[in-house]
Amino acid sequence: MIKIVTIVGARPQFIKAAAVSRQFSKHKEIQEVIVHTGQHFDKNMSDVFFEEMQIPHPNYNLNIHGLSHGAMTGQMLEGIEKILLKEKPYFVLVYGDTNSTIAGALAAKKLHIKVIHVEAGLRSFNMDMPEEINRILTDRISDILFCPTDAAVQNLKNEGMDKMNVRIIKNGDVMQDAALFYAQEAEKKSTIIKKLGLNEFVLCTIHRAENTDNIDNLKSIIEGLNRINQEVNVVVPLHPRTKNILDKEEIAIQFTVIEPVGYFDMIMLLKHCKLVITDSGGLQKEAFFFRKNCVTLRNETEWVELVENGYNTLAGNNADKIYQTYQIMMERNNDFSKNLYGNGKACEVIVSTLLKM
Ligand code: UDP
Repeated sequence: MIKIVTIVGARPQFIKAAAVSRQFSKHKEIQEVIVHTGQHFDKNMSDVFFEEMQIPHPNYNLNIHGLSHGAMTGQMLEGIEKILLKEKPYFVLVYGDTNSTIAGALAAKKLHIKVIHVEAGLRSFNMDMPEEINRILTDRISDILFCPTDAAVQNLKNEGMDKMNVRIIKNGDVMQDAALFYAQEAEKKSTIIKKLGLNEFVLCTIHRAENTDNIDNLKSIIEGLNRINQEVNVVVPLHPRTKNILDKEEIAIQFTVIEPVGYFDMIMLLKHCKLVITDSGGLQKEAFFFRKNCVTLRNETEWVELVENGYNTLAGNNADKIYQTYQIMMERNNDFSKNLYGNGKACEVIVSTLLKM
């Protein structure tokens, strides 16, 4: 029996865990214990994903949220350590780049438990991003590094990780597994397109700290989106952090704002939109999975293959640049048949690797 403690806490981690846990559940030799740190806790930022995607109910919920980075990470470290001492797993599995990721990896490593990092090796080379700090530190103390792309493998090699006593494996992107698996169910269960009466629209999300915490940047992004909305309906499922700041600053919005949606609704919005505009990591790839061009509201991206192949263009946060990039990307015809992310086999590679260890 291989016992794995999985640490999740934020929305994108629930989606990744849904795909991987589903694969784990097919193997009797694997026992998974799920720890939810509580980083995201609202019904529409957490519960909806567990319900819709039938992720096993977390065995533990630490309920840690609404704190500064240091306090949040520190409390998670303490809480996770207690659980690991009790559960004594062989592996701890962490996803992505949040405070839950680094807290889980660090708690495990100090107890000499092997750390698995899924979505390893990604780099923005922007050390002002909390996510970049979390990624680099997590990769450095992980034992098995599952990389979604060739670029991610190369980043780890550039940092000398291939000279360490660790395994670096390119497995593809578990989010593509999730997108492929849940697309049919979304088609049956989501009513969002009809409910909102959507026809032609652009799908947009904004939540990165570099965009929300700098008011000038945020105002400029909103100005760009307002301008685009004069030509085509812009629909934004708004992250609670962004909503709080927009409300507080009384920034005028002309486009359509909705509450954050569940994954099935998100899939349908992706399927039906004309273009994606986002600062999300996950959504840049999902645009590609659902054959949509993407404008990224950042100056760099970890998903460089999307930019290199013309599916994604970086627009930063300048209103004029956002508008111009939108115009270019609305018109660009792309061939989406390339296999950049493993075509739905990423979770299988994880399981077969772990079973062989
Ligand atoms: N997502 C969702 N509902 C929303 C907004 C996003 O289900 O209202 C999904 C999205 O499809 C993707 C994931 O959440 O799978 C991305 O999470 P987020 O943008 O919060 O984080 P990031 O990927 O930037 O780390």
